[in-house]
Amino acid sequence: MKIEVDKKGFYGKFGGAYIPEMLQPNIEELRDNYEKIMESEEFKKEFHSLLQDYVGRPTPLYYAKRMSEKYGAKIYLKREDLCHTGAHKINNTIGQIILAKKLGKKRIIAETGAGQHGVATATVCALMGMDCTVYMGAVDMERQKPNVERMRILGAEVVPANSGSKTLKDATNEALRQWISNPVDTHYIIGSVVGPHPYPEMVARFQSVISEEIKKQLKEKEGKENPDLVIACVGGGSNAAGAFYHYYNEESVRLIAVEAAGLGISSGKSAATTILGKPGVLHGSKTLLMQTEDGQVVEPHSISAGLDYPGIGPVHAHLFDVGRGEFFAVKDEDAMKAGIELSRLEGIIPAIESAHALAAVKEVKFKSSDIIVLNLSGRGDKDLETYIKWGGY
Ligand SMILES: *Cc1c(COP(=O)(O)O)cnc(C)c1O
Repeated sequence: MKIEVDKKGFYGKFGGAYIPEMLQPNIEELRDNYEKIMESEEFKKEFHSLLQDYVGRPTPLYYAKRMSEKYGAKIYLKREDLCHTGAHKINNTIGQIILAKKLGKKRIIAETGAGQHGVATATVCALMGMDCTVYMGAVDMERQKPNVERMRILGAEVVPANSGSKTLKDATNEALRQWISNPVDTHYIIGSVVGPHPYPEMVARFQSVISEEIKKQLKEKEGKENPDLVIACVGGGSNAAGAFYHYYNEESVRLIAVEAAGLGISSGKSAATTILGKPGVLHGSKTLLMQTEDGQVVEPHSISAGLDYPGIGPVHAHLFDVGRGEFFAVKDEDAMKAGIELSRLEGIIPAIESAHALAAVKEVKFKSSDIIVLNLSGRGDKDLETYIKWGGY
């Protein structure tokens, strides 16, 4: 079965655009223009030149020798941690800001949870001289002060969302409200493969530069484009979608998606959406999400802020549904151990999100001749405080 999006934005049973009528014009404008713009030579030239000279792409595909020896396979790390601002998120914000400019927009809004997407958005707004407003839950602003200040240094306005639990979903609601009131001059940059169509596919295509590069780099190093396994962590699923994209329909490549099990799958404190979730609508698309019997969204938990999301992008819900993806869930504690292990084995301190993907290497069955590409989505600088609190090193 071919993995692809249909005209209405569905991957199998999941996706679509479930939005209030007031948002229809904004979404239609984007849907009717994004492909034409993305496929134009002018767009491609600007996108690739910024990816190269500003983001620092191509990111290396690094053969992790000591880790390979330890786990008995050939393990390559795709070094998204070396991107400007420390993670893959900037691939998407660069793409969307160029798109916004071509659509004649003057102002950018975004939502952010831990602040990583907010920082990546504030960065590209500074780069392009665009006005930037980032909505962030008041509780998250308190928890993530350094990122709030980073956004402010970059010239963005950070607006607290004071409704509900004052976290990511409330910030998203606030951003959507603002978009409805300012449709003509404003573009809303969503940070993962979530939201109403066309966002999930659009974001995946901006991130697909990851697997495009892996193919070339693996060809140089191994004489073939396809590894046996690709492993990536999944919050909303954008780094995983980018790493899987050009392999969706290469049947010989196993796609391994790693979610956060938090304190344990049955602890009530996790973000293991595919295991615990049921179909529902979240932020404009039909997907799997963690919810109560009567459909209330359950607050997720993960030690890594980037995986702390109650849903999953519709493409991942589909990969799970049809069995194309293999899904694992890793506990806080095992991710922390894996993060410290990579630091000692390879001299790379990973983001705690990425450490979930690393920990899954212990769980996945593979052969010693297998080539594994693990997408190292980000670096651990932002997580220093969590590492320090955790201790044990
Ligand atoms: C935000 C983030 C993630 C999770 O987001 P996805 O959309 O699932 O990729 C993973 N890793 C890092 C380093 C992040 O900053």
